[in-house]
Order: sequence, then C-alpha cells, then structure tokens
Amino acid sequence: MIRVRKYGEVTDFCMGRTIGPVVPYAVHAFLIGDTLIDTGTVYAQEEFLDALKGSSLSTIINTHHHEDHIGNNLALHNAFGASIHAHEKALPFLADPKAIGLKAYQRIVWGLPEKSQGQALDSRISCAGRTFDVIYTPGHSPDHVCLFNPDTGWLFTGDIFCGRTVRYLRRDEDFSLTLSSLKRLAELDVTTLFCSLKGIVEDGKAALEAKISFMERLAAEVLELKESGYPPCRIRRKILGREDAMYYLSTAHFSKEHVIESILFPAAGCPSD
Ligand SMILES: [Zn+2]
Repeated sequence: MIRVRKYGEVTDFCMGRTIGPVVPYAVHAFLIGDTLIDTGTVYAQEEFLDALKGSSLSTIINTHHHEDHIGNNLALHNAFGASIHAHEKALPFLADPKAIGLKAYQRIVWGLPEKSQGQALDSRISCAGRTFDVIYTPGHSPDHVCLFNPDTGWLFTGDIFCGRTVRYLRRDEDFSLTLSSLKRLAELDVTTLFCSLKGIVEDGKAALEAKISFMERLAAEVLELKESGYPPCRIRRKILGREDAMYYLSTAHFSKEHVIESILFPAAGCPSD
C-alpha cells in the first residue's frame, strides 16, 4: 500500500505491507526537491518506485537505521543513482541489515532491507534550495537525526516524536535521552513536523511541547510511586495498565514495562555525537 500527498514542496509517501484487511504500522517517507528522507519498507518497493517515476532523486537521507526507514535504499540507489547518507553509527547497519537483529514480527511487518552503502552525514544539507541543519537526536535509537530548516520551520523528525503521548517503548529505547532530544527540538522555531509515524503535524511546536509535558508528568508520577515503595510492575499497572496486544504481538519488544524501567533505571551517560 502506498498513499501520496503533497504539502507545499514536500511529497509525503505513506506506505506499508497489506496483511489481510489491515496495514499495520504504515511509515512515511518525504521527498523535498531531489532529496528523499527515509526510504520506507521493502514490502512497498514496487509501488514506491512507481510513485517516484518522473522524479529526480539525487540524495537519500536515513533518519536512523531501523528497517522501515532504510527498506528501499538499494532499490532507489539503483534506480536513480542517489547517494545515501546517515549518521555514522547507522552505516554498519545499512551495510549489513542482518546486524539489526530483526525479530519475527519486524520481518513480517516491515521486512529485511537489502544491503546498501551510506556515507556519514554532514552537519548541514541542501535540498530544494533550502539549507537543513542536521540535529543529532538520540533516544529512539543511538544513530537518530532530525533535519530542520530555520526559514520555514520545517522539522523532519523520523521516529523521535511519534505522537503526543507514550504508552510503549521498544526494549532498546531510552526514555530520558528521548526527552532531552525533544527538549532540544522544542527550542527551535518549529512550524510543521514531518513525522515517520504520524505524517504531517502542522502545530509542530505545540505538539513537541505536549509530548514533553506528558513525558515529564509520567516520569514524576513513576518516581513518586517508587518513593512510596511500589515495585516496577505495580507502577506499570497503576499508570499504564496491563500489557496488551502490542506486547504479545511484538514478543515483548514493545512494552509498557520498558517505559517504567527506562524511567526508573536510566542508562548511564549520554552518547556523544
Ligand atoms: Zn525507528
């Protein structure tokens, strides 16, 4: 499945694998000028190549290495000759996607990407005559970047935003690093977010601030219960409820439990860029 929508100079491609009557966790990729930000899932490859017919594509930027963001790197490089750029920590996963260690549900929903060769991103890039700052935003993954254009206030957020609330985190996500990254982004004069999960979010700054407030309130509540002597599983049940389908379908890769644990036991230190 692929849906194409224009937003000013940006084309939004929303794509996913159709499984029976549903498309679970569709992902967005964005084209601006001849630059494509993320390449979606390998399961939408034919439709994506069709949708891009007539476009000129010289540059691919991956916001991070996850399989639904690098899925069509190789096909698009082969079709258009586009060069591929990502944070240096992402490059080994582009070269060997098996190293991502995909779980069965990830292979079913998004698929294993083909190998591709990327180059480390510079601190600024040009697309469609505009300059975008590359902002290092770890938390969702250690190699995550966002792209910001100060003239328009457009911010391409990859998977660091993904909505105003949080109920689940992946086992490898870091709550406090994500919050720090979001706070850095909220200091910018943001207008529109281009989010890989939610698509185009027009009240971008308010959306970022809403998510930050939600996460701060959640963390305060968790720590208060900890002070009152609650163990992590009771804190989880009281604040977020029981684990649900997300937990079981992802074989515990996404869980409410990890939201609580990541607040209670933050990873030591902050990775440098
Ligand atoms: Zn991701």
